This record gives sequence, structure tokens and C-alpha cells, in this order.
Amino acid sequence: MSELHKFIFDGLPVRGMLVRLTDGWKEVLARRTAASDAFPQPVRALMGEMAAAGVLMQANIKFNGALILQVFGDGPVKLAVAEVQPDLAFRVTAKVVGEVPDAARLEAMLNVHGQGRCAITLAPADTRDGQQPYQGVVALHGDRREPLQALSEVLEHYMLQSEQLDTRLILAANDEVAAGLLIQRLPVEGAGNLAGAARNEDDIGLNDAYNRIAMLAATLTSEELLTLDADTVLRRLFWEEPLRRFELLKGDSGPRFECSCSRQRVGGMLKGLGRDEIDGIVLEQGRVEIGCDFCGRKYHFDPVDVGELFTPVQDQPPGSAAIN
Ligand SMILES: [Zn+2]
Repeated sequence: MSELHKFIFDGLPVRGMLVRLTDGWKEVLARRTAASDAFPQPVRALMGEMAAAGVLMQANIKFNGALILQVFGDGPVKLAVAEVQPDLAFRVTAKVVGEVPDAARLEAMLNVHGQGRCAITLAPADTRDGQQPYQGVVALHGDRREPLQALSEVLEHYMLQSEQLDTRLILAANDEVAAGLLIQRLPVEGAGNLAGAARNEDDIGLNDAYNRIAMLAATLTSEELLTLDADTVLRRLFWEEPLRRFELLKGDSGPRFECSCSRQRVGGMLKGLGRDEIDGIVLEQGRVEIGCDFCGRKYHFDPVDVGELFTPVQDQPPGSAAIN
């Protein structure tokens, strides 16, 4: 079962999280395989890392809305998206056009011409109080314009640039497990477990604590992250550190695959395209078929459905529904 482990280091301005997506991640891949258009292996690995990173980032903030992690590419991978809800339900997909080389990394997949971008969007669940979506964007290269090859480096860069948070991220995914370890330095002001410690962190050696723990984290290999259980990973890395763990999140309260698509949303999207456009498709194909890119579910709208879609609700005969 997929799980999320949260922990802090007692007395130190450092927190961490470890996520392992297993059943939900396998379901994502199985749905796509069933639809007989499986993603190339490097894209599957990227999607798994994005799902793991998305869960870590969502669990790291207090925000009532979806966290959407997107990478826009100028290579064979045009787009990869992971979306994580506040309850840690996640979904992930990608759009691939063209050949993805074996063992391709970020540059060969998404940043062939240096135009690749990574965007993190926070979309409020409730916009009635005027809350606007927030979006931060970073390029897929480092400070010296060197192309980054790992998603973890892009996200570390993003955290530092737009959140001013020192972060160490280790991500890995195969077809069984998508996993990630996040270590973050807590901002000193308002950090609960520091209880009014001195402002100048360097003076009191708190930077050292973060650096030491981040360096330990960086020794974790992909192989270890994918094959060892969370207890073993944390014990091996941090056995000399004052690690304090919180309640494990799994099952209904943990990360899991869930798609938020619905017939109503698809109907809304069709309405947005306009009656002429939709009538044209019905004329040509007899009905409209829309597949969800995240879960593979198919939605069909026959001519009667389409008619109802574009009829105002009050004009419909009793008992019918435009959208159900
Ligand atoms: Zn769906």
C-alpha cells in the first residue's frame, strides 16, 4: 500500500518526508497498458517521479486546493502533469509526440532546444472568496545555463528560487514503485521546534545541521529508495540524528490514485467548444467520444446528449438531465 512518512529532527530546523507510491502507481500504468498505448520507459520514470514529488510538495504546504506539477517540453515529450489533491489523491499523465530515446533524461525528453519549463500551480478548491491560483515557473537549466538532467534538481532550484527554501530531493521510479525523499530546512522565523532560537543561524551552527542531514540524504541511491522499506531507509540514513516521526499516512488518509474527471466536467468542456464544433463531430462520427488522459475513462455523447448539453436546463422536459 502507498504510504507517506513525515518526520522532523528534534531541536534542529530540519524536516523531512518520505513517500512510496505502490498500488496507486501501478494502477496508473496498468490503465495505460490496458489502453495499449503504454508510455516509453523514460517517460514512465518521469511520471512516477512527478507523482512522488507532487505528493511531497502537496503534503508540505497547508493549502486547500490542488497542487499541479507540470513540465512543458520542446522535445518528444510535450507535457507531463501530476496533480495532487489536499487529501493526497493523485493522478498523472503525459503527452508524447515522437520517439523517446532509451535512457533519455530530462534534456533529451523535454529540453532539446532549451525551451523546457516546469510550472507549479496551486489551484484553490474554493474561489468564492476571490482566491486566485498561484503559479511559479522555472526553466530546466541551472544558474550557469547548464541543462538539468533530473527532475529533483529542477524542483530543488524552484524551492530555493521561489520559496527561499533549502531543499534536498531524491526521486526514483520504476514500474513497481514511485518514491521520494524530501529534506527541507525550516525557515527560522515561526519554526515551531526552535522556540525563539537566535536569528543568525550560521552563528549557532543550525546551517550545519541542515547541511549534514541533506548530505546524508544525498547518499541514498535510487536502488535503495526503490527497494528498501521506509523504516530501513530512515534508520540507515539518520541513525545518529534525533529523528522524530509522525503518524504514518496510508490507505484512505495516504497517497492514492484517484481521478477527478466526470461526465459533467467533460460536458462543460464540450460546451466551451461551441455547438457548431460539436455538431460537426457528431455529423462526421455519429457521436462524440472523449477519453480522460489521466484514467483512460471514455465519455460518449450521442446526438441526444449533445442536444441536451446545449439546451438551457429550464427548457428541458421534466425528468431529463443535460448532464449526469
Ligand atoms: Zn479520469
